Amino acid sequence: MNDRSELLSQLPLRENLRGLSPYGAPQIDVPIQLNVNENTHPLPPVVVDAIAQEVAKAAATLNRYPDREFTELRELLADYLGHSLTKENIWAANGSNEILQQILQAFGGPGRTVMSFGPTYSMYPLLASGTDTTYIAGERAEDFTLSAESAAAQVREHKPNIVFLCSPNNPTGTALGLDVITAVYEAMSEHNGMVIVDEAYAEFSLASTKSALSLLEGRQRLIVSRTMSKAFGLAGARVGYLAAAPEVTDAIRLVRLPYHLSAVTQATAIAALKNIELLLAQVEDIKSQRDRIVARLKELGLKPSVSDSNFVFFGGVEDPHAIWEGLLEAGIIIRDNGIPGTLRVTAGTESETTAFLERLAELLGSQK
Ligand SMILES: *Cc1c(COP(=O)(O)O)cnc(C)c1O
Repeated sequence: MNDRSELLSQLPLRENLRGLSPYGAPQIDVPIQLNVNENTHPLPPVVVDAIAQEVAKAAATLNRYPDREFTELRELLADYLGHSLTKENIWAANGSNEILQQILQAFGGPGRTVMSFGPTYSMYPLLASGTDTTYIAGERAEDFTLSAESAAAQVREHKPNIVFLCSPNNPTGTALGLDVITAVYEAMSEHNGMVIVDEAYAEFSLASTKSALSLLEGRQRLIVSRTMSKAFGLAGARVGYLAAAPEVTDAIRLVRLPYHLSAVTQATAIAALKNIELLLAQVEDIKSQRDRIVARLKELGLKPSVSDSNFVFFGGVEDPHAIWEGLLEAGIIIRDNGIPGTLRVTAGTESETTAFLERLAELLGSQK
């Protein structure tokens, strides 16, 4: 134990937080950052200007609290999502991580449970601890797929209060079929549980993949969570949002802090959404870089998963840590999620992707 953790252990911390580590994907300042699934393309200058103007307007009234209901932002988000959704169906927060935390505050908490199916997003268990909700680790098949039958059976066995379904799944990249979501929803209906589909990467999905937004109608306890951090290229702005029945947003209002979405955040998101086409223009390029990574990794004898996202998860890596380090020496950071024999890489710009693929090929060659 080092000095700081010794000192920490003296504090009257809640029991369920003892011994935990905070979320900590390394933030290392190297030229090519392909480790946390950001959109690596810089924002178009027109959008940067639009945001600067809108934020300047907001700055003039920062002596006042912001619109607590962020009405204009909810309207723009509803328009963007379509599916006949209105602002009554929309809620937003500081990143979809805060959205998920608010859901746990409203529907989880002491004596309640949340279940997900690993390997999946590493924040779910941490958000569970933070809200004193018991985390139940459901399982996927050996190839990381999750069938409707298996998911529903695990839900019926554990009867969790909340299920998080990550689709496309992080870190494996593949989306769930809508049959999995409806089967889980039916199983959860038997004990009045909430089902959250985390669609952080929805905009990168393959054409054949359907969004759970199409399932919202008539399903009161279904929530679809989205973010502006990935496809929109706005990870630094911290804006996530959800679509659900209006009464679900009323439940969240009971736990949100007043004025949780700052005037600066609202102005940024509004300006961005008014330029949505420019903002999403990079998505096709990112998808083609992703497909290029998948094809090249196969040529290199690795085993990439099907990707509906802006990253590629690949197996067949003999020594993931050595590869991770070898890339880092060349100024390229990717992600080692600690799953044996695998690594994950974000699709970058064309030149970033080329640099990654070339260096990887060298490293694999030198391992033989
Ligand atoms: C990146 C990511 C998010 C987004 O988090 P924000 O708080 O919106 O930046 C949510 N869920 C998953 C699975 C992610 O990978």
